[in-house]
Amino acid sequence: EEVYKILLVGESGVGKSAILLRFADDMFSEGFVTTVGIDFKNKDVKVDGKLITLQLWDSAGQERFKTIVKSYFRSADAVILAYDVTDEKSFKRVEYWISSIERGSPEGCVKVIVGNKCDLKLRRVVTSDRGEACAGSHSCPYFETSAKTGVGVNKVFMYIAEKLSRG
Ligand code: GDP
Repeated sequence: EEVYKILLVGESGVGKSAILLRFADDMFSEGFVTTVGIDFKNKDVKVDGKLITLQLWDSAGQERFKTIVKSYFRSADAVILAYDVTDEKSFKRVEYWISSIERGSPEGCVKVIVGNKCDLKLRRVVTSDRGEACAGSHSCPYFETSAKTGVGVNKVFMYIAEKLSRG
């Protein structure tokens, strides 16, 4: 059986836990999901008629967990870097996370950048164009998601699953 390890990183509050909860259990909670250190969930998906297991690792963005996160990068097959489209600061921190990923992740690790909370249209401050441009400058695909409505979430994980499974 194929098992792939996918790590979610990004600033605290951008919706990493919410994205995982939406994808793994098709649920959403308005409250903060407190992740202490690192937590994971398994989710099976079908690619080309074959079941593969995605092991989803949620990391807390807090400084004090930096070292733990770093050690998890080393065995990651894919990393999802999330920011919040309503929070400029979380977008500015994308560069920091990109360099952490590049320093810590293995060769061939699949990277994607995700702008989350795209349901909050009136509060959006980071345009799609800026998200695209940022991802493009790091040769990463860019996705927009809403963990709340579910928009775009499966697409991110299926992109990764296909990429990993097909090699
Ligand atoms: P994390 O710290 O990155 O894991 O962030 P959480 O998953 O705990 O989410 C932080 C807050 O943002 C919570 O109150 C969530 O309900 C909310 N949230 C997460 N994703 C979305 C989204 O796509 N849309 C909206 N409107 N709220 C979201």
